[in-house]
Amino acid sequence: MLAYTYVERGTFALREKPKPVLLDEKDALVRVTLASICTSDLHIKHGSVPRAVPGVTVGHELVGVVEEVGTGVRQVKPGDRVAVNVETFCGQCFFCKHGFVNNCQDPNGGWALGCRIDGGQAEFVRVPYADQGLTPIPDNVSDEQALFVGDVLATGFWAARISEIKREDTVLILGAGPTGICALLCVLLKGPKRVIVCERDPQRRQFVRERYPQVLVVGSGEVLDAVKEYSGHGGADVVLEVAGAEETFQLAWQCARPNAVVTVVALYDGPQTLPLPDMYGKNLIFKTGGVDGCDCAEILRHISQGELDTTPLITHTFPLNEIEEAYRLFEERRDSVIKVAIRP
Ligand SMILES: [Zn+2]
Ligand SMILES: [Zn+2]
Repeated sequence: MLAYTYVERGTFALREKPKPVLLDEKDALVRVTLASICTSDLHIKHGSVPRAVPGVTVGHELVGVVEEVGTGVRQVKPGDRVAVNVETFCGQCFFCKHGFVNNCQDPNGGWALGCRIDGGQAEFVRVPYADQGLTPIPDNVSDEQALFVGDVLATGFWAARISEIKREDTVLILGAGPTGICALLCVLLKGPKRVIVCERDPQRRQFVRERYPQVLVVGSGEVLDAVKEYSGHGGADVVLEVAGAEETFQLAWQCARPNAVVTVVALYDGPQTLPLPDMYGKNLIFKTGGVDGCDCAEILRHISQGELDTTPLITHTFPLNEIEEAYRLFEERRDSVIKVAIRP
């Protein structure tokens, strides 16, 4: 089968590989029907994910059909359409039982698919701990609608869940890339009074303005004034930092009102500075990132009920044999790309 492979730092290539087989009774084999490219794939390509294993098939955001399951798998069966979770987790350890699946203590847990073990930019993928890692897709939900459930949408959902959003709140979201928009959609589910999105790319600002007219969209130069003007207490009640730049990390606490919740979802290239003397007395509550992707069934319910739709994010679709071109387009941000789907 064809599998897009991390060859060495700087190089991915489409390779012919044997179809994967089950290695454990809790494994499932999934025929990939739709996958996507994630910014984390680019991080692997550029060598900034030290755990990534050369030779591994990349891709960790995908949906498919179960082909085969091990004898220990209970929740899915051959023929089921499933969303695949980016995280591998055992479901049994202290952290899993508390819903903190990102911190699963299993030695094979965490972000394994498409990083340490073969992932889903391929025709087939082996999914360990299939009862945790696969979620059946309701009949009325398409592959396109379910594509992001296991990764960027899970991240947005988790970020909105931990941010303690209330009806009377003004929520500020910094960054309107794929994860920022997913966070926006999940914040809207909570029904806050006002949502402000800050994004420096004019095309992405336009994308949000056109599709979500109820949201106030601003550039990074205007955001401090905007939150002062549009929130009741001198700053946002909740801030979600999804952009991952030094400037946005600073804006996150500067735009927050005293006693606000600041949720840091982004992944940074390097350490950030918390200027504690300047923040003294603001009494902020910081929450930091690393998605606990254990709400996939609930996310799929929202999609099935028509409350959540991420299909506008899929701006391009390529067949697997043209994945090199898909990566070029995504990496160079050509043609107003947001997300690219790959069809094996
Ligand atoms: Zn990802
Ligand atoms: Zn665990």
